[in-house]
Amino acid sequence: MESVAGRESTTVVVIGAGPAGLTVANLLRRSGIACVVLERRTREYVAQRQRAGIVETRAVRMFDSWGLADRVLGGVPSDGLLEFRVDGESHLVSDSDGSAGPAARLCPQQVLVQKLTAAYLADGGDLRFEAADVSLHELTGDRPTVSYRAADGTVHTITCSFVAGCDGDRGTSRSAVPDGFLTAHAFDHGIGWLTVLADAPPPAHPLLAVSPQGFAAHFPRGPHSSRYYLQCPPDDHPDAWTDSRVWEALRTRLADAALVSGPITDREVFRLRSLVHDPMQYGRLFLVGDAAHIVSPMGGKGMNLALHDADLFAGAVRDFVHDHDDTALRTYSQRCLRRVWSDQEFSHWLTRTLHDAGDDTHSGRFRRGLARARLDRLFTSSAAAQAFAELTTGVDLTGDTQV
Ligand SMILES: Cc1cc2nc3c(=O)[nH]c(=O)nc-3n(C[C@H](O)[C@H](O)[C@H](O)COP(=O)(O)OP(=O)(O)OC[C@H]3O[C@@H](n4cnc5c(N)ncnc54)[C@H](O)[C@@H]3O)c2cc1C
Repeated sequence: MESVAGRESTTVVVIGAGPAGLTVANLLRRSGIACVVLERRTREYVAQRQRAGIVETRAVRMFDSWGLADRVLGGVPSDGLLEFRVDGESHLVSDSDGSAGPAARLCPQQVLVQKLTAAYLADGGDLRFEAADVSLHELTGDRPTVSYRAADGTVHTITCSFVAGCDGDRGTSRSAVPDGFLTAHAFDHGIGWLTVLADAPPPAHPLLAVSPQGFAAHFPRGPHSSRYYLQCPPDDHPDAWTDSRVWEALRTRLADAALVSGPITDREVFRLRSLVHDPMQYGRLFLVGDAAHIVSPMGGKGMNLALHDADLFAGAVRDFVHDHDDTALRTYSQRCLRRVWSDQEFSHWLTRTLHDAGDDTHSGRFRRGLARARLDRLFTSSAAAQAFAELTTGVDLTGDTQV
């Protein structure tokens, strides 16, 4: 029989301890605002989940502005260059905004998560792993409640002022919103990617390659590990990609016969898809990160958008708690969505360009010509290169964001 623990109270309950939830928690803690983080998985599981690899310039500056950059960012600063390899021909493009401020960091997502967790706990933060059956109630009132079952079987209920739904695309927060309140804008790119993690030397620069056999990419994930992507049919099975087939395809598409291989530690096939939920708020529930939107991985924006939402949400709660000003809370969704759509557009543009320019069985020769023209412009026009750098660094939008 399950036992019921006492009723607790805090200012914010954060659901999910991924990049979004842990960033919200650290920023709230920094502002002296009480919060409780509920995570369904164990600490070990969350700490090893490998996905993104670059914290963009804007996000680095965001952590810097909260006085947290030194504590939560691992990895090394990016040298500000990205390599495009088109049919074997190399083009280096700057992904730096040219200013003297801190630049993007090559920081694997799991390193960021580990450091955010350590910083929050070291500061006395309340983070509860293995929280099962999380459920949200009374979201349209002044004091919502969140219930969950702890690992020892006790059921807890926490009363709060706000709930931060940071539990990803398959979490529970969004499902607490009544049907019909949110509009989902979904897009399927019709493209699959085989993604492979391997203990193999990272490239000199993040590398995106176009070839007649299709798109491929090679990204650093630490001093001795790499993540690779290979365009494939969306319904391909990862088992169809033996080690030798993976390395042969990479050597062909990256036009690098000497590419050094290594043990493959993970392989997965996924469909490129994009999704935006609008609005990102329901009553006192605020959706943050993948709980509100998914960006196709091209362009490296998913995790960085989660960090942006977290910054806006934490800043808005700080204004409300310290200054009794709810303006930023009321405009949270609108301000987040401005950047969400900008990053969706960038990711979509890059996805089309790098896939259409290669294997024309999918896109046809006309689209291939358009994509090649876009690449030509990027490599030869300084204005086009500058616009690209602004989008990559995330310093493209000004005005109503906090950084
Ligand atoms: C293969 C791959 C490659 C990627 N590459 C990049 C990249 O290069 N650059 C980039 O910026 N982004 C990339 N992304 C996207 C990026 O990983 C996500 O955007 C990012 O993880 C979003 O963070 P989040 O905190 O919103 O969600 P998540 O990381 O999904 O975290 C959600 C957390 O909530 C927990 N949770 C879920 N349900 C519950 C529940 N019911 N109760 C309690 N807790 C719950 C989960 O266990 C998890 O810890 C990639 C994604 C994938 C899959």
